[in-house]
Amino acid sequence: MSRHAAVIGGGPAGLMAAEALLAHGLAVDLYDAMPSLGRKLLMAGRGGLNLTHAEPLEPFLARYAAARPHLEAAVRAFPPEAQRAWAHDLGIETFAGSSGRIFPKDFKAAPLLRAWLHRLRAAGLAIHVRHRWLGWADDGSLRFGTAEGETRQAADVTVLALGGGSWPKLGSDGAWIPLLTDRTEVTALRAANCGFDIGWSAHFRERFAGQPVKSAVLSFQGRHVPGEFVITETGIEGGPVYGLSAALRDAIEAEGAATLLVDLAPGREAGRLGESLAQPHGGRSLSTHLKRAAGIEGAKAGLLREVLGVAGMADPVRLAGTIKALPLRLVAPRPLAEAISSAGGVAFRGLDGYMLSGRPGTFCAGEMLDWEAPTGGYLLTACLATGRAAGENAAIWAKT
Ligand SMILES: Cc1cc2nc3c(=O)[nH]c(=O)nc-3n(C[C@H](O)[C@H](O)[C@H](O)COP(=O)(O)OP(=O)(O)OC[C@H]3O[C@@H](n4cnc5c(N)ncnc54)[C@H](O)[C@@H]3O)c2cc1C
Repeated sequence: MSRHAAVIGGGPAGLMAAEALLAHGLAVDLYDAMPSLGRKLLMAGRGGLNLTHAEPLEPFLARYAAARPHLEAAVRAFPPEAQRAWAHDLGIETFAGSSGRIFPKDFKAAPLLRAWLHRLRAAGLAIHVRHRWLGWADDGSLRFGTAEGETRQAADVTVLALGGGSWPKLGSDGAWIPLLTDRTEVTALRAANCGFDIGWSAHFRERFAGQPVKSAVLSFQGRHVPGEFVITETGIEGGPVYGLSAALRDAIEAEGAATLLVDLAPGREAGRLGESLAQPHGGRSLSTHLKRAAGIEGAKAGLLREVLGVAGMADPVRLAGTIKALPLRLVAPRPLAEAISSAGGVAFRGLDGYMLSGRPGTFCAGEMLDWEAPTGGYLLTACLATGRAAGENAAIWAKT
């Protein structure tokens, strides 16, 4: 008789675990609290669905920082090129952009998810939506809340892939944490790849909220990240901010605030800038002078005024220095619900081959595990790779 597996959570990690379990010949039921699967994956598709990254595996693995030892074997077993081949098998062609980020050719998630669910159903996957996992009953069966009341299901092996805590309206709301804390250690979920609060003046906020600041370089703790960021109502967000967000968040937690330096004129040298700005500007306004002498206008000029005030703007040396290293004092990360992903989750200490030592036969995968990574495709790669590893290990455990 074939062994029976339950996968709880129908995001990329859970679906990949289900695929691995089916490939080993297990009967698989997949449960999700939401009315449909893969909602966060579909949301990722709105940004083009950055599936993975083309950089060599060594720097790729380094993106997982302290969690690397716990993810490395899984990522090596399902590396970026295998992920691309997997997408290809689903009829989704991928390409590497100039930054090395890998996307589906049509930048969409829906065709990939559709093809994947079709293949999984054809392989026998039974899908149960609107089933919220509530923990275990005394007899070890799984408890689910449904519109018709509570239902219980027994399984030989279970993979939990319940996601982190960002964008809770898409399904992963972190409500699973109290269900696991008496079985294993769970680190509190925190915002990762998030924006930050600064606290703008009302004048600056009204004029510039929503505007991009193009071609800047953001620096913190010796790391420099180029790119475009966005002024928000309360502070800043966007690619280069996310790239530094783990270090910024940790520094704010430790010290109450963190000062980020922004180079508003990369490629230009401070001394030269100072000389150009010191040239008399006759009847021209300071804005026109700033634009002609330093190429600074719009939101960049607004940022300088916000930080320097009128007196500081009149001093060309100070102005040039600030163009090259505008200090922005960040006082808080944005709430977890707004972040791209979360840090924290099930601690690796309590896992053996992704199985909970405190609950043999139950495996965990995806963003609910305690790791974090920058954007760039590293999130989905780790979710898919740990989903696959957890599914494989669960299948072997169920059979033996
Ligand atoms: C706006 C946005 C854009 C993103 N873009 C990218 C990108 O381009 N590239 C990238 O690599 N990553 C991206 N990510 C991150 C990526 O989508 C996630 O890391 C990934 O979806 C996590 O996969 P997962 O399977 O672990 O969890 P999820 O995808 O969160 O799935 C978890 C599932 O578990 C279900 N669930 C939770 N609790 C229960 C319960 N108690 N009972 C039953 N079911 C439950 C949820 O309903 C959900 O379906 C983006 C995220 C966001 C928010």
